[in-house]
Amino acid sequence: MKSAPFTLSTPVNLEEALASFREGGMYYKLIAGSQSLGPMLNLRLSQPDNLISLRNLPDLREVTDVGDSIFIGAAITHAEIEDKKILDPSRGLMASVAANIAYRAVRNFGTIGGSLAHADPASDWVNLMQLLDAKFLIVGPNGKREVTSNDFMQAAFTTCLKEDEILLGVKIRKLSGQAKFAYFKFCRKVGEFAEAIGGVVIDPELGIKRAIIGATAGTPFLIKNIDAVISGQTNAMNEALIEAGCNDDYEYQMHKTALERALTQATL
Ligand SMILES: Cc1cc2nc3c(=O)[nH]c(=O)nc-3n(C[C@H](O)[C@H](O)[C@H](O)COP(=O)(O)OP(=O)(O)OC[C@H]3O[C@@H](n4cnc5c(N)ncnc54)[C@H](O)[C@@H]3O)c2cc1C
Repeated sequence: MKSAPFTLSTPVNLEEALASFREGGMYYKLIAGSQSLGPMLNLRLSQPDNLISLRNLPDLREVTDVGDSIFIGAAITHAEIEDKKILDPSRGLMASVAANIAYRAVRNFGTIGGSLAHADPASDWVNLMQLLDAKFLIVGPNGKREVTSNDFMQAAFTTCLKEDEILLGVKIRKLSGQAKFAYFKFCRKVGEFAEAIGGVVIDPELGIKRAIIGATAGTPFLIKNIDAVISGQTNAMNEALIEAGCNDDYEYQMHKTALERALTQATL
């Protein structure tokens, strides 16, 4: 099947991209690496009149050191992160996660911003950004705004982005040399989306202790009773898994094991 007909806008800066939304009477869709939207167009699940390409926008290709954090532009590809071509706030964690997204052809085109905006609960960046407590920078007709990872993704395939807004990128705090972390992903074969994700980051110097249960039916679940879970209290882990929505036995066991493995790796 081929996509329904559409026109393509190729703005060269943010102003032009935002202006594209103002041409009334059309259904617009932004396109970055096309790795998720492309199949949806071909299956006619999405039938925009006009695609606005984000590939040539310099603001979305920026990576900057902003003091205690690094800003990573939305159009940075998975491959650029895997190849360590950009500043890394995560001491190698992002590169290792990127290396296990799909396969190289997808990673060459797919972008961090596209993954986050698409908001698949099994997406690696969706889960890692919650683990790293990233801030999301968004631009729209009324200027820029910043939201937390808690507020960005609202449900499966649903974010706080409005139709005329663009995700500029994410700001991620730099982990210290004392940080310990792990990200464990279960998938049936390399290149597939995760069936279960467990992630842990502990950074005593920055006072960070976070763990997530990911690839559930909804948003990544940030564990609240973190000290009890890190210290191995079975009840606390069970409660977190139930609260995260892991109700049937298979799902429960997959997510429990993913979390346990991440905890073991991070606390070795
Ligand atoms: C075979 C295959 C296997 C995959 N496996 C994995 C995997 O294991 N893990 C994983 O995490 N992902 C996986 N993916 C998804 C892949 O990571 C995609 O690259 C990603 O989901 C979308 O990024 P994109 O740049 O291609 O976005 P696009 O497909 O171009 O866009 C996706 C959506 O985001 C919107 N969008 C894009 N950029 C912006 C922006 N800056 N602001 C606002 N909205 C925007 C678009 O309008 C669209 O709705 C896989 C994909 C394929 C095809």
